[in-house]
Amino acid sequence: MAEMAFLPDERAFQSVCEQVRNTGRSYPLFSLAKMFLERPERYRIRFLAKPAAEGRPGTVFHQCGICGCVVTSASLLTQHLLKTHADKFYKVERIQGEAPKGQFATVARCKLNGALLGPTNHHAYQDNLMRLYKQRYSNMPFERFKASVVIEKDPELVKKWQEAAAWKTTYTPLQGEQPKAIENEMELERHCRENHLPSSGTASADCVASAEVLGQGNDPAITRLWRSVIEEETRFPINVAQCLREHFFKAGLNVFKGRKGMQFVAAVRPKPFVADRNTVTTTVWAILEYIQKHPLSDRKKVLAAISPAETETAAEAPKQEAAADKTVVPAAEPAQVSAEQPAAETPAAAKDAVPEGTAPKAVVSPAAQDLYWLVRQGYVIEYHNGQLQCPPPPKKKDPKKEPKRELKEKAEGGKQPAIEPDAAKNEPAPVEQPSVPAAADEEVAAPPGHHQEG
Ligand SMILES: [Zn+2]
Repeated sequence: MAEMAFLPDERAFQSVCEQVRNTGRSYPLFSLAKMFLERPERYRIRFLAKPAAEGRPGTVFHQCGICGCVVTSASLLTQHLLKTHADKFYKVERIQGEAPKGQFATVARCKLNGALLGPTNHHAYQDNLMRLYKQRYSNMPFERFKASVVIEKDPELVKKWQEAAAWKTTYTPLQGEQPKAIENEMELERHCRENHLPSSGTASADCVASAEVLGQGNDPAITRLWRSVIEEETRFPINVAQCLREHFFKAGLNVFKGRKGMQFVAAVRPKPFVADRNTVTTTVWAILEYIQKHPLSDRKKVLAAISPAETETAAEAPKQEAAADKTVVPAAEPAQVSAEQPAAETPAAAKDAVPEGTAPKAVVSPAAQDLYWLVRQGYVIEYHNGQLQCPPPPKKKDPKKEPKRELKEKAEGGKQPAIEPDAAKNEPAPVEQPSVPAAADEEVAAPPGHHQEG
C-alpha cells in the first residue's frame, strides 16, 4: 500500500546536536536511533503511496487539517472530523427525550466492547449495529462482528438500554442561515462531507504526520502499517539510524566508526596525533602515551597516572559535565529519559570537561586541561560512557585502488590521513572512519545478517 519513512522531530534533533557539541563526547548512533523511537513526540512519519499498478489502485492519504492525523479514505476522515472536531463545526447538545416505550424482554449486546444495541425488534437496532461496526470493527468481516452480538435476558440490562436510549445527541451547524439541528447520523455525515471535508482535509500520495497523532485517525490500515514499521525498527533501527546519520551530516556533525566497529556521532572528526613529541608538552605526550597503552580507560584513571597529586582537584572539578551528559536527550522530558540514556552510563568520568565556550569554574589541573584540548581537537576520542581512546594511525592504502581520492588530497594540501569511502553515497561530506580496536560493551547488537552500516 505504502512506504513509510522516519523523520526526526526538528526540536528533539536540534537538542541532541547541541548536546553532542557541548559535551565533546562520541555517542553511539544506534542508541540515539533507539532513543528517538522511544517516544512518538520525537519523530514524524512520512507516508509515500505506491503508484497505481495493474489491478491495484494507487493509495491516497487523507490528512486532517486540524490535528494532522492520516487515514486512507475520505469517509474515515469525515468520521474523524465528527468524532474529534465536531465542536468546531456544530453546536453539539445532549438532549434527554422519552425512553423507548413498550415491553422489551431482551436486549442485544456486543461482546467485543459491551455496547447495548437494543432489542432486535426495535427500529434503532440495525442503525446501532451498523454504526458500531463502521466506527470500531470495520477491519474484521461483518459476519464475524455480527457473531459477537449476543441476546441478553437480564431485565437490568434492558432497563439500562432504555435509559441510555432516551438521550440523543443533536448537531446544529454553526454556520448557515437558520440552521436546523441534525439528529440522523447519515444526514450528519453527508452534511460534514459536503460542507467541512473540503476545507478541513487534504488528499495526497505523500504526506508527513507526527507520530503522536497517528492513532487519532482510528484507521486500522494506518495503525497496522505504522506498528509493523516501528516494531521492526525498535528491534534493529537500521533505517532510523541511516536517516539520523544523514541529518547529523547536514548539521555539521561527524559520524565515524569507533570501537567494535560501531558508528558514533561526535562534534569533531577523530584524527591520529602525528606531530613530533618535541613539539608538544610532556603532559600532552604522556596522556597520549597512556591512552595508547591503556585504551578505554576513563579520565580519572588517565589523570591519576599522569599527575597523581592533581587527581583530587580534577575529580572535584565542575559538575557541568555530568549534567550535560544527562541532557543528551531531546528537549521533551529530559530528566525522565536521561536515566535510560547511554550518555549517563558513567557520569562520574570526565568531570573536568566543560561545554565549549564556557570557562571552567573550578580550578582544573593542567593535565585535565590538556586532555580536554586533545578531546576537542579529535586526537582523543571520548566515548559517551567516559572511555578514552586514541584514533589509530591511518591505514596504508593501495594507491591503485583510490587514485582519484589521493590525488584530490594532494591537491588540497594532503595532510589528512587516507580515509575509507563511506557506505552511503549520498552524504554531503565524506567522513574519516578510523577503525578503532574492539573493546567494552556493545550497545545495540545487530541481528544476524545485518551490518550496522546498512
Ligand atoms: Zn483531526
